[in-house]
Amino acid sequence: MYSIADNIKLILAELPKEVRLVAVSKYHPNDAIMEAYQAGQRIFGESKVQEMTAKYNSLPKDIEWHFIGHLQSNKIKYMAPYVHLIHGIDSYKLLTEVNKCAAKENRTIKCLLQIHIAQEESKFGFSAEECKAMLSTNEWQTLQHIQICGLMGMATFTNDNEQINHEFYFLHQLFQEIKKAWFQNNDYFCELSMGMSDDYPLAISNGSTLVRVGSKIFGNRIY
Ligand SMILES: *Cc1c(COP(=O)(O)O)cnc(C)c1O
Repeated sequence: MYSIADNIKLILAELPKEVRLVAVSKYHPNDAIMEAYQAGQRIFGESKVQEMTAKYNSLPKDIEWHFIGHLQSNKIKYMAPYVHLIHGIDSYKLLTEVNKCAAKENRTIKCLLQIHIAQEESKFGFSAEECKAMLSTNEWQTLQHIQICGLMGMATFTNDNEQINHEFYFLHQLFQEIKKAWFQNNDYFCELSMGMSDDYPLAISNGSTLVRVGSKIFGNRIY
């Protein structure tokens, strides 16, 4: 049996140094997170605001909390005081809501725009065209309390590696295109969040900078 600490070490050994590991701790208890923390892990990803906030309140304050779930605008205020990065922004309206809550906290919140790259209907996100159309209006430039730091995507749930590779490749191309068109002189537009337990090596070979790995660290989730 591998421990959580062993799993983290094995995964970190595979990551190039410019790629960071988001340990996806959703549905796992504080002890499991603390085991990862003792092994040196500081970045954790959660998909429910209430669960993440309870964990934030009871765990060490040097943890970077990343919200990776589907965001509801009425929940943003609970994480606005502390969240480090929101991965799943999929509408301009959400961006304005995050901006409003961040302003109240006197913070700037980092956000990633989620792009729908999978074939499944159920996964959230902008299409490439919707995303570019949103950026083209330049209205987002007026939002002083958010920073768009890059893109996020989830590949199709399939064993077809060629399909997954194609989707990650597409997202990387889009990242570069968007960087060039709107964030040329911006150091902070630099994150490409893609790759999970089953597909992170493919994501890394396509330019991922943040891999979101859950079950490969913590085991299966009990819902
Ligand atoms: C749950 C989740 C993950 C982690 O999935 P694993 O397959 O357990 O690694 C990554 N990204 C998102 C958006 C998730 O919801």
